[in-house]
Amino acid sequence: MLSFREFFGKALRGKRARASSQRSARRRLPLAVRQFEQRIVPTVIFDPQFPKESVPSAGPYTVLNNPTVDLIFWGMTPGSSTVTSLRKEAQAVLSSSYWAGLNEYNNGNAEAPVYGGAWTDPNGPPAGYNVGGGSTTDIQARDAEVAKAIQANPSWAPSGTAVTQSPIYVLIPLLPSAGYNNLGTYQASNNTTDTINECSVGTTDSSGNLVADFFTQTFSHELAECITDPGAGGVTVNYSTATSFPGYVNATAPNVNNNPNQAGNLFYLNSGGQIGDGEQEPGFEAHYGYRLTGTDSEGDTLSVKVQSLWSNRRLDDKGSAGAFLVTDGNLQNIYLAPIWNQSGTINLQNYTDANGNPGPNQTITAPTFTGTYDLVIRGDQFSDPNNLASYNDTITVNADDTQVIVTVDKETFTLASMADGGKIRNITVEPGLGTNTATIQKLAADQEVWVEDGSYLGTGPAATKVLHRLGFAAGSFRPSRRPGGA
Ligand SMILES: [Zn+2]
Repeated sequence: MLSFREFFGKALRGKRARASSQRSARRRLPLAVRQFEQRIVPTVIFDPQFPKESVPSAGPYTVLNNPTVDLIFWGMTPGSSTVTSLRKEAQAVLSSSYWAGLNEYNNGNAEAPVYGGAWTDPNGPPAGYNVGGGSTTDIQARDAEVAKAIQANPSWAPSGTAVTQSPIYVLIPLLPSAGYNNLGTYQASNNTTDTINECSVGTTDSSGNLVADFFTQTFSHELAECITDPGAGGVTVNYSTATSFPGYVNATAPNVNNNPNQAGNLFYLNSGGQIGDGEQEPGFEAHYGYRLTGTDSEGDTLSVKVQSLWSNRRLDDKGSAGAFLVTDGNLQNIYLAPIWNQSGTINLQNYTDANGNPGPNQTITAPTFTGTYDLVIRGDQFSDPNNLASYNDTITVNADDTQVIVTVDKETFTLASMADGGKIRNITVEPGLGTNTATIQKLAADQEVWVEDGSYLGTGPAATKVLHRLGFAAGSFRPSRRPGGA
């Protein structure tokens, strides 16, 4: 149902809208919609850098509630350390705060997926299998493997024919990072045909080395999409039609365009069409993400990279609705502005056309994501909205190139580097009104921190403010608001 390219993934772009209607024509899906309290959970916000995508349907959506997740390690040695580490990482993601990010789609934390079990098949996928693919042969291979897994684990069978009665079967081979989620079919013992949820998740770099960040990033992405878009009535996204959105790339000029009718186009940021796709996951580049902690069934705590998801309702750094997010369990927001290189280089052979065919081995200039971010830290998030000056914020920054730890009014955010990026460049501290304390404990030589001083005029995020630069050395800066100060 959608496809998408991971860091090293072979491209295959699903025609998801059409596939979706084909599925609904085959099978009428029962509505299983419940109204949940509409909570907005503050979080780590990634500011869109291109014209925003949007969710065309206001809902209610057909989503999966507390789906069971069964892991199928496909072509690994049973009991091996590889299987153990992947299982532990998957459990950490499942137990994390990530799933609160689905609240706005009627799928709050209480609706988070639940670990079912794991099974290892020493035999891997057939030759030519595309872990990020959605061809008929790819899906038939998944269906056959799920049938084997259910034969070995009879309790894994769906409880009925509807997709909402199916666990999510996650098929995990030792293949380069890429992912896909789709509906499959299972022939039940009572001769009914069950519609089932399948996720395909790659695990390695292009040399075949296991990379935990790539696995957990794709696992979180595909699972979130499977939960929110299990078929007709699910959550889908539309991309901007603005000419400045780099939806497509092409061997002939304009090499980067947003014209769906230009012959020879290959999908670039117009990818997939579910909440994990688009700007946040450019193919063959770093994806927007954050490290969360979770626990496995042994009680061990793990730090796992998860990918951001599209939120149609969260406010971005400038206060307008729509941003990418990771819910980390804190009550306050921090804002990350992803840094793109407007004159980057990509190879067209890594991207595919509407038929799934890759482009030529040819490089072009295109915007690329650097894997680095600027960070904005705001105060006053616990303020009485009628009396913003009532809150005195205490903000601490401890930064270097591999990790930035921010404390805002006793809540801690840890921004760690990841296999495909995550470094913080510049940091802006805006404590706002009240008498505030900002302490800069450490900075790397190439990082800058800017701190708003007591000259703050007005109350909104766009108001005039004076920022002071603190550079290149540890230091402490304690601005106090001076009403009307210069
Ligand atoms: Zn996706």
